[in-house]
Amino acid sequence: MMRQTGHHFLQIPGPSSVPGRILRAISAQTIDHRGPDFAKVGMQALTGLKTIFKTEQNVFIYPSSGTGAWEAALVNTLSPGDRVLMFETGHFATLWKKIAEQLKLKAEFIESDWRGGADPDQIEAYLAEDTAHEIKAVCVVHNETSTGSVSPIAAIRKAIDNAGHPALLMVDTISGLASLDYNHDEWGVDVTVSGSQKGLMLPPGLSFNAVSEKAMAANKTAGLQRSYWDWADMVGPNKTGYFPYTPSTNLLYGLNEAIEMLHEEGLENVFSRHQRHGRAARAAVRGWGLEVLCSKQGQESGVLTAVLMPEGHSADQFRATTLKHFNMSLGNGLSKVADQVFRIGHLGDFNDLMLVATLAGVEMGLKQAGVPHRDGGVSAAMELLGVDRTSVAAE
Ligand SMILES: *Cc1c(COP(=O)(O)O)cnc(C)c1O
Repeated sequence: MMRQTGHHFLQIPGPSSVPGRILRAISAQTIDHRGPDFAKVGMQALTGLKTIFKTEQNVFIYPSSGTGAWEAALVNTLSPGDRVLMFETGHFATLWKKIAEQLKLKAEFIESDWRGGADPDQIEAYLAEDTAHEIKAVCVVHNETSTGSVSPIAAIRKAIDNAGHPALLMVDTISGLASLDYNHDEWGVDVTVSGSQKGLMLPPGLSFNAVSEKAMAANKTAGLQRSYWDWADMVGPNKTGYFPYTPSTNLLYGLNEAIEMLHEEGLENVFSRHQRHGRAARAAVRGWGLEVLCSKQGQESGVLTAVLMPEGHSADQFRATTLKHFNMSLGNGLSKVADQVFRIGHLGDFNDLMLVATLAGVEMGLKQAGVPHRDGGVSAAMELLGVDRTSVAAE
């Protein structure tokens, strides 16, 4: 392979590229995780994360990928044979359901076409049927990374309450946290699941559970087998900044740096930047005459944009072209939409010029791969970014 010059454009919707400040923080020497200096690192991470989840309740940190925190949410709160309601927003919702089934839960899907977020009305209607309250949890994916659709979590909370149903609300915001507005306490979420390698700008390897008092109470009677994931073992050591087993010390250095960076920018600014980049990316897609996979207005993601390929053209061949010619990785279509969709990540440590370069890579790639499209997608995005910039400056 010939050496590629310049930096690689990692435009998949996670892992996102890690800023230098975080890489340098991670490179500090590993210390004794039971020694006196560690407490400060651990406390800073545990209290800092609460400001990101917007919670005053418990947040637990695992040295695992996001999948581990999915499992943790279920095994800490549920018992074998419990019914669990899930919503088929896309590939990640489907994977979470598979885990629930492997854990011997009765997972039930509200099916969907992968073109929007979870529907609160359908959830309310489903729960209203369950007069015996056999359903113990409602699990939804906030930002469905396989489709670029966002579920309205506050409205789903309301739907559960409207149905007068006591089920726990569990939310996967692995790819939404620190990119999209999220409020664990205000939205009444019982377990929020997240991970390090997306909006938090860290490498893969940390995952999180933010946990309500109601979910902590469920932990006491939950009958599913657990050991490594048990919240009960975390609570004691966490009080003073320690963990029951060896934490990922260096990733915690990085996490503390990431939280500081997010607050330097201001969370509201982080969220509006992602929204703005989402709007610009969609303007580009429309400019090319292509179709955004998310078809529900107002539910399009600011984290990524999934694009439908024209009939008879391979998304994977197109992605191979952008990698070969422009040193850029785009996200692939997953399971049901494999080879029909490519995904543009615009999350994390990202700015206008990086977005324009990314979209230029897509536009040049479409040409190079012989995919029918119109010119002018990049111009449309630039125009939108420029107008936006003017209105931001005028405020
Ligand atoms: C990335 C992602 C996951 C999986 O996380 P891993 O770290 O790969 O285990 C789950 N859900 C969503 C929505 C994701 O974006």
